[in-house]
Amino acid sequence: MLAELLLKWPLIRQLVNGGDGTGVEAMSDTTKALRPKNEGANVARSICPYCAVGCGQLVYHRDGKVVSIEGDPASPISRGHLCPKGADSFQLVTHDARVTRVKYRAPRSREWIELPLAQAMEMVADRAWKTRERTFTESKDGKPVMQCTGMAHLGGATLDNEENYLIKKLFTAGLGMVCVSNQARI
Ligand code: SF4
Repeated sequence: MLAELLLKWPLIRQLVNGGDGTGVEAMSDTTKALRPKNEGANVARSICPYCAVGCGQLVYHRDGKVVSIEGDPASPISRGHLCPKGADSFQLVTHDARVTRVKYRAPRSREWIELPLAQAMEMVADRAWKTRERTFTESKDGKPVMQCTGMAHLGGATLDNEENYLIKKLFTAGLGMVCVSNQARI
């Protein structure tokens, strides 16, 4: 009983086990019981969206929720490392202050109102298509160009790899837009 009690003291454990005081001998029972937050989670490979370096990320998820984002050791770009921005990208999808409702300010209005997502999507699609129809150029100087120069798209650094892929497909192949770029490239 006394020995058990004494072994709860890190110094005694260090003397008994010969550790340097930084290993298991310094751990409390609570610390020993801690488990990695991504233990047992599923993992998906992705790429950090913040800049043009394109570091590899492992996105751990459980029950439909992201539980952590770590550097991907298999990435030939970053070999498991992330800079502070990339290491914090977990908060992109989890932070309490993240805006999750559509905000709309009508022309000449000073007020922002909230719109249902479906209504906002309809408004955007309607305006994009009208602009495309109004400005689409089939040919120039007798040569076919099939392009829309009335719209441009500048993506933000919080768009992920998969979203950027779909944006490029939609705007270039779908609408004929020629000016599609991203803040991460600027
Ligand atoms: S922001 Fe950082 S982690 Fe993300 S791609 Fe750039 S260097 Fe890599």
